[in-house]
Amino acid sequence: MDYKNIYANSGLKDISYDAYLKDYTSFGIGGKADVLIKPTTEEELIEVLKINSENNIPTTIIGRGSNLLISDKGIRGAVVVLADNYSDIKIEGKSLRALSGTALKDAALASIKESLTGMEEISGIPGSIGGGVAMNAGAYGGEIKDILVSVRAIDIEGNVHEFNNEDMHFSYRHSRIFEEDLIVSSATFELREGDPEEIKAKYEDFTHRRESKQPLDKKSAGSTFKRPEGSYASKLIDECGLRGYRVGDCQVSEKHCGFLINAGNATCREMLDFINEVKAIVKEKTGFTLEREVKLIGDL
Ligand SMILES: Cc1cc2nc3c(=O)[nH]c(=O)nc-3n(C[C@H](O)[C@H](O)[C@H](O)COP(=O)(O)OP(=O)(O)OC[C@H]3O[C@@H](n4cnc5c(N)ncnc54)[C@H](O)[C@@H]3O)c2cc1C
Repeated sequence: MDYKNIYANSGLKDISYDAYLKDYTSFGIGGKADVLIKPTTEEELIEVLKINSENNIPTTIIGRGSNLLISDKGIRGAVVVLADNYSDIKIEGKSLRALSGTALKDAALASIKESLTGMEEISGIPGSIGGGVAMNAGAYGGEIKDILVSVRAIDIEGNVHEFNNEDMHFSYRHSRIFEEDLIVSSATFELREGDPEEIKAKYEDFTHRRESKQPLDKKSAGSTFKRPEGSYASKLIDECGLRGYRVGDCQVSEKHCGFLINAGNATCREMLDFINEVKAIVKEKTGFTLEREVKLIGDL
C-alpha cells in the first residue's frame, strides 16, 4: 500500500515509516510498524481514524507500551501512539481530566499537589491514562474503576462516544474498550480532598514498596501473568524453583518471580516460548493454569 501518498494531504505532522516498535515498549521487543503516527489533538486522532477506515488500513493503538509483547515481524498498517504527544491534565475542584497519553504518574503527582487523594495506589504503574482505563489497571487494592467518572472514547470510524463508569464493563484487567475496539481519548476522575501529609506518606510508601520489590531497572512488561484465583503467579513460579531461571536472554526476575524480563536482546518468539515453558512447569508442578496478562500484538 502506498501509505506516503495516502497521508500526504492530511494535516498530520508526526508520521514515520518503518519505525522499530521495540523503542516504544518497556519490554524492548517488537519489529517495525508500516506507519507510526503520533497525533497531538483529538481532531488529529479522529482524522487518522477516518483516513484509516476509508482506506481499509488496520489501526493499532499503543499507549506507553508497558503491557505489550509485539511480534518480531512488527505490525501491519498504522500504529497510533498515544503517549507524551497526547498528554494534558486539568484539575477543577475534585475532578481531574486527562488526555489518554498522560502518564498515570504525572496525573497522580498533579492530584497530590492539589491535596487530592485517590490516585496514590496507581501512581507507580508505568502506563498511560488510556492504557490504564483500557486495562482497568490497579495496584495495592486500588483500581482505575474506583475513581473513574467518565471516558471520552472514539470508535474505529472516528465517531465520539461518552461513557460513564457503569458503561465501561470494568472487570479484572478488562474494560469495554477491548470489547468494541474503542480508543480512549480522555478520562475524568473524581478524587477526594485529603490531608497533604497523609497523601504524601501514602504515595511514598507505595513508591518504596514498588522500588524495593520490582525489577524497575530491567526490561519487562510488569507482571507477565494474571493473578490466578486462589494464589499469586509470583508465588507459584517461585515455588517451582524458577527464580532467576534463564533461557537465552529471557529470564524470570531474581527480584520478583512474576516478572519475566528481557535480559538482553530477546525476540518475541523466544519470549513467547519462555512464557509457555514457565506456564507448563507451573501447571505440572502446582496444578494452577497461568494466563498471560501481557498483550500479544502484531503480525505473528
Ligand atoms: C514495571 C512495571 C510495573 C507494572 N505494574 C503494574 C501494576 O501494578 N498494575 C497494573 O495493572 N499494571 C502494571 N503494569 C502493566 C502496565 O503498566 C499497565 O497495564 C498499563 O495500564 C498499560 O498502559 P500503557 O499505556 O503502557 O498501555 P500499552 O501497554 O501501550 O497498551 C496496553 C493495551 O491497552 C491498549 N491501549 C493503550 N492505550 C489506549 C488508548 N488510549 N485507547 C484504547 N486502548 C489503549 C493497547 O491497545 C493495548 O491493548 C506494569 C508494567 C511494568 C513495566
